[in-house]
Amino acid sequence: MSDFILTDDGEDWFALILAEHIEEARKRANSLLDAGARLETGCIVSCTTARKKVRFHGRQVAAYRFIYCVLNETAIGFDTVVRHRCHNPLCINPEHLELGSRADNKHDDWEAAAYGVDFGLL
Ligand SMILES: [Zn+2]
Repeated sequence: MSDFILTDDGEDWFALILAEHIEEARKRANSLLDAGARLETGCIVSCTTARKKVRFHGRQVAAYRFIYCVLNETAIGFDTVVRHRCHNPLCINPEHLELGSRADNKHDDWEAAAYGVDFGLL
């Protein structure tokens, strides 16, 4: 065993997954997308009502965060959020996801509350 210690559930863990388990991770991400229901908006949601978590190599990660990082081969840390451009927090469609800061995410919530939807997506 190596004495490599993960400092958190974020960047280091994702970097390890991308480096050593990318094929398995891609398969998992694609099977989550295949199992989801596609809505009229193009959103893909899992059949559970709660935000779906993925258990993978000893960690639990939000499904949309897992899918974004694996399919874009991007490792992100705690300060980086994966934003929903469609404002549907249950959506796991990688085309609806983008990276942002925590401050951006707050702004999104405010915008969604004020205007309802992101018309640029429709
Ligand atoms: Zn969506």
